[in-house]
Amino acid sequence: MAVATHKPTNGRPTSSATAESAAPEVTEAPGIPPVPFDHEQLAIRRGDRSGLYSIVAIHSTALGPALGGVRLWGYPATIDAARDALRLAMGMTYKAAAARLDLGGGKGVICAPPGTKVEGERRRAALLDFGDLVESLGGRYITAEDVGICPDDLIAIRERTEHVTGLPSERGGSGDPSPFTAMGVEAAMRACCKAVFGEPDLAGRTVAVVGLGHVGSGLAQRLAEAGARLVVSDIVPARRALADELGAAWVDPGETMLAECDVLAPCALGGAVHAGNVADLRCRVVCGSANNQLADESLAGVLAQRDILYAPDFIANAGGLIHVYMEITGYSEERATELALGIEETLGQVLATAAERSITPLDAARELARERLDAAAAPALRD
Ligand code: NAD
Repeated sequence: MAVATHKPTNGRPTSSATAESAAPEVTEAPGIPPVPFDHEQLAIRRGDRSGLYSIVAIHSTALGPALGGVRLWGYPATIDAARDALRLAMGMTYKAAAARLDLGGGKGVICAPPGTKVEGERRRAALLDFGDLVESLGGRYITAEDVGICPDDLIAIRERTEHVTGLPSERGGSGDPSPFTAMGVEAAMRACCKAVFGEPDLAGRTVAVVGLGHVGSGLAQRLAEAGARLVVSDIVPARRALADELGAAWVDPGETMLAECDVLAPCALGGAVHAGNVADLRCRVVCGSANNQLADESLAGVLAQRDILYAPDFIANAGGLIHVYMEITGYSEERATELALGIEETLGQVLATAAERSITPLDAARELARERLDAAAAPALRD
């Protein structure tokens, strides 16, 4: 059952929150594609303290507690925020299952009026309200950082619930997962290059990185070290300093998606590939960190027809989840690194399956995840 309709507003430049400022500006969400509704739970509560709605969507707990970050974001209406949470929670189920983690999929949203800043006392109130909602779920959902949330915010949420992960290291957590996400995306790119160009080496490849935030900046640094030629952009002009440091070409944010390159790496918001730009992409591979990079899943088929290899986002960007998972199970940087680098092998298998069976990599990745979920007898996902 589809519960949301797509609003074709993707791909336009939008401002974004980062952890660099304590109270990021909240902006209107991009279009939210349709999402099948087969979730275990959707919890929505208007906060007593803040008056803002807190939302938690739990897609599946078949493999373990549903883990997924919370985003503080502006939506035209609360129902849009709920759709976003449902969509993102489903992606987390597949991501954890494909990464072979004993975790389910969930996602949190604190819904702010678009174009406003939620800061100071109101921000703290919203975070405490969200913490109460998480606590009411009794550990079925574990929260973490996502867009618009900074480490200090997690500390505030932690005041109301222990079901928080990804806390700063000085608070006993594993710290920022972004470097591991970047590591995993680079590993995924190697698998893609092996499939498309016959060898995994990124040296000399042209990679366009869209968004130089936490993941994109780390990814760009890794790619520069690997000898890739970089084309980068961000809607925050100050990020150009990193481009200069890395010797990367800086392009207008509106143009990066259409840059001529070997690998296009969407590392900003979801819906980067959409009906309006898919025919004009000039890359051989799409492989980035953003969740839900395709505005509509049918675009996986369009990309395949155009002979553009799409690395399913939930495989490519699992490094951060792997890192956070290690915090729950007993942190080991060595093990987290091994698992994040293992994304190259996992994606290699997915791409091989896709090629053998003439299906899209997205379908092959879903099958890999479903196999694990079915083995765990996931009632919510059975037909
Ligand atoms: P971030 O907010 O730190 O960075 C996003 C960057 O994209 C910002 O610098 C922003 O200014 C820029 N941006 C926004 N719209 C843009 C546009 N139209 N063109 C160019 N730049 C634009 O977020 P992040 O933590 O780096 O995450 C990036 C993406 O990866 C998100 O979709 C996130 O959900 C996903 N992701 C992140 C992690 C992680 O470990 N942080 C893990 C998995 C997935």
